[in-house]
Amino acid sequence: MAKRNVLHFTGIGSAFNAPFGNTNAYFIDGTTLFIFDCGESVYARMLKLLQSKRIRRVVIIITHLHSDHIGSLGTVLSFCSHVVPKPVDIFYPTRAIERFLKCIGISDDKYTHHLSVPEDWNLSIVPYRVVHSNMIACFGYEVSFKGATFYYSGDAHDIPDPVLKKFLDNKIDLLFHEATIDTASAGHCSYTTLERKIPVSERKRVYCMHLGSEKLAALLIKKGFQIPKIEVP
Ligand SMILES: [Zn+2]
Ligand SMILES: [Zn+2]
Repeated sequence: MAKRNVLHFTGIGSAFNAPFGNTNAYFIDGTTLFIFDCGESVYARMLKLLQSKRIRRVVIIITHLHSDHIGSLGTVLSFCSHVVPKPVDIFYPTRAIERFLKCIGISDDKYTHHLSVPEDWNLSIVPYRVVHSNMIACFGYEVSFKGATFYYSGDAHDIPDPVLKKFLDNKIDLLFHEATIDTASAGHCSYTTLERKIPVSERKRVYCMHLGSEKLAALLIKKGFQIPKIEVP
């Protein structure tokens, strides 16, 4: 299992790249569906799995509160409360998400918010505060699950130093990192940063996401990075 990609992506796009869908990943453990981020396109793309009888519980791990990461969260919570129904747990390390959900009319009986990971999730998450927006708390997550460890960046200007070190020391198997073609971006990670920090020999372990264009995807592939396939269940 060590270096196999356990994540499925329903979208790999940046905020305005509608054809690629909002960047979002999921995996299933037993009867629990784990979802990373819940942007505007995610409800529609995850609908079949949300409806599936084999899914008894949904866990949503949020990296930050920009709309392309939580834009359909309210709809998913309402759907899981009123239609299917099934419990939803949310992981996000600050209470800001509770205030956001209250503002959009989602009462706190429709979800359980966790600031840290409960034991029965069978995984561990180490949050890293990342540079992206100075208005909201943004996190990348080191996730360990069934003997494999990966890092999921969310939106981030850079790879945290401890994460890069662990990755290069093979203590993190895979990196899922955002990339932008904009070499001067203050809030996103230029592909040149990834190029500078990740040796060519290790790029097969790096999946680039949150992409603004086909052109960037092609450029990253040419440089030896991986691009996740878009899989809508
Ligand atoms: Zn984004
Ligand atoms: Zn963002």
